[in-house]
Amino acid sequence: MSERPYAILHDAQGEPFGVFISAALWAEVQAEVLPVLMAAAGEQQQPEEVFPEPLGDWNDLAAFWDLPYPLDRTVACGQCGAASSDWQADEPRLFRLKACNLGGLARFECQRCRARVTKRHFKDGVKVQTVPFVE
Ligand SMILES: [Zn+2]
Repeated sequence: MSERPYAILHDAQGEPFGVFISAALWAEVQAEVLPVLMAAAGEQQQPEEVFPEPLGDWNDLAAFWDLPYPLDRTVACGQCGAASSDWQADEPRLFRLKACNLGGLARFECQRCRARVTKRHFKDGVKVQTVPFVE
């Protein structure tokens, strides 16, 4: 038995009023769907100069994570000292994801000083490197 990854929700009168999608499906389509939803809801698009984050790559890394420790969301800038316990949760954001791959690399841009913070995840731990911004 396979479950549909989404469902149309109906009110007491049987009228459709919303859509539920599974967390797994949302993780898969979020990067593409969210901008469409925001635009439809009349919310402001992100400014042009803000680069899109490769969130699908991050989600893949999290989904296929097989190292003997949990994938954490901490990021710390070795240049200006900015630090986050969850890079996706800060408001305003301190770090933005620049690159990510299944090999365990996650690269962030510090929003304060524009340094690049690279986290390389190995079996025996995480190696973090900060490279100052160069014009
Ligand atoms: Zn910084």
